[in-house]
Amino acid sequence: MAFKERTEPIILSKLRILNKRLELSDEEKRYLSYLDKGYKGELQFDAMAETLTSSCLTLNELLLEVERTTFQIDTLIIFSSALYLFEIKTNQGDYLYKPDGLTSLTTGVTIKNPLDQLNRTKLLFKKLLNQLGHNFKIQGSVVFVNPEFTLYNAQPDLPFIFPTQIKRLHENLNNQPGTISTNHYKLATKLASLHQIESYHNKLPTFHYDELKKGITCLVCESFEVEATHKYLECNVCGSKELIESAVMRTVKEFRLISPDTAITTSAIQEFCVVIKDGKRIRRILAKHLRIDGSRKWTKYR
Ligand SMILES: [Zn+2]
Repeated sequence: MAFKERTEPIILSKLRILNKRLELSDEEKRYLSYLDKGYKGELQFDAMAETLTSSCLTLNELLLEVERTTFQIDTLIIFSSALYLFEIKTNQGDYLYKPDGLTSLTTGVTIKNPLDQLNRTKLLFKKLLNQLGHNFKIQGSVVFVNPEFTLYNAQPDLPFIFPTQIKRLHENLNNQPGTISTNHYKLATKLASLHQIESYHNKLPTFHYDELKKGITCLVCESFEVEATHKYLECNVCGSKELIESAVMRTVKEFRLISPDTAITTSAIQEFCVVIKDGKRIRRILAKHLRIDGSRKWTKYR
């Protein structure tokens, strides 16, 4: 298990909910798909790192700060001999490598050379390590996880790992010598505590609560065509069933994410869920899962 797990970026969770309940612009949809692909690629790499049997500590997704500059590490694996830092890319298609950027052979569009970002991250990370009193060796690589990616003209000595080389990377990481010490644990604990929560509020589409489509969506197919029976929420599209209680709490979570400033009250949740006609039922579920603040206002999601 990873020492620090990766969680879905909040902006991605929010966009997923808004995509169900609002008509997003094409640009917003592209952004959602871009974030989604990036997250899936990272999870794919996590799955590989998860199977390492050598002595190491894996920290997934670190947002750190040094000298008022923020930087992100997609994956950090601490071995006794060195710290391995990975920048994960999910690009697809054929690209031509040049030091000033990667040019798509299909669209002609040039994107930034990921080595610039890797070098910046390494530099800032080294500064942070020095501040923390550590002097470990840092190895950095850019990993392309999409099997449909090709990069022409890239010299073999560049720190790129291509999809066809990930198996070998795994073997290499599994053969790292030595055992991690208390000092490595201390560093891992410190880095995990320094991890910051992202705050990309400005990138969220602006919307008014009234514009949102209300209702509970099916857990499986995300359809709004659901019905509440005695105990279950049943989907009229795919036929799946979910306990009402979990469906309501799942919807409360969505409500909190996209409307963080609105108080969670029985009537607000009933209005948002639509299909649960019995207010007492909502009240019982909220009372079971949330802390009561005041007599009528519910806050603090457990
Ligand atoms: Zn369904």
